[in-house]
Amino acid sequence: MRPTPDERFDAKVDRSGDCWIWTGATNNDGYGRFWLHGRLVPAHTLALGRVGAVLDGEKVSRTCDNASCVRPSHLFVGNPATTEAQLVGLRRAGAERWTQTTDERFDAKVNREGACWVWTGATNKGGYGRFWSGERLVPAHAFALERAMGLALVDGMEACHTCDNPPCVRPSHLFAGTRLDNMADMIRKGRDAPRFGEANGRAKLTAAEAAAIQCSTESHAVLARRYGVGRTQIGRIKRGENWSCASSI
Ligand SMILES: [Zn+2]
Ligand SMILES: [Zn+2]
Repeated sequence: MRPTPDERFDAKVDRSGDCWIWTGATNNDGYGRFWLHGRLVPAHTLALGRVGAVLDGEKVSRTCDNASCVRPSHLFVGNPATTEAQLVGLRRAGAERWTQTTDERFDAKVNREGACWVWTGATNKGGYGRFWSGERLVPAHAFALERAMGLALVDGMEACHTCDNPPCVRPSHLFAGTRLDNMADMIRKGRDAPRFGEANGRAKLTAAEAAAIQCSTESHAVLARRYGVGRTQIGRIKRGENWSCASSI
């Protein structure tokens, strides 16, 4: 299996000292560089972004004087020309932030105002929260469920929602299910609909046309010509592999 970007990144960090040293490629100034999604990014910028810092084109600087250090508590968002006094303050603030427990960091990112407890931290494309557990990025709802259960989800099990709200991390809205449970749940809720029938990009027929074909007594050849599709597809529709006549009309 190919390593994830997080795994690739972590494999290049030496955590044996106070500073966490980047052992991968560097530029001429000694700053680490990491290959991510087709481009080279500064390793220390990525290290800070990964613990949830919002980097809006801002520069990442260090409180230590070590160009190859990627330890988040030695990094801050700001200008490298910051004065020594400010640096001391930042170092203290960084250390405090870093001494927050994992639970405190998690809870600080949850909005509990509504019925669903909504994750306000980083999310993936599907809207699911992502949380740095201290060791790796995990789905926020999975973290919430494991914490409430006091158990880790075993391989093959994942955290599923009863509320159909991806950013929700309220334990009472979550259950441990298999990937199949999750898929079945998605299909039932219609979120997986594009995989089937009319919404499938490969289908050339509307549901009404497919229903007409399925219920027709004409030959496959006649139907194929009329609807501009292959005879194989007509056969598949007749057998009800992709379409259900009963549910379409
Ligand atoms: Zn350092
Ligand atoms: Zn919910």
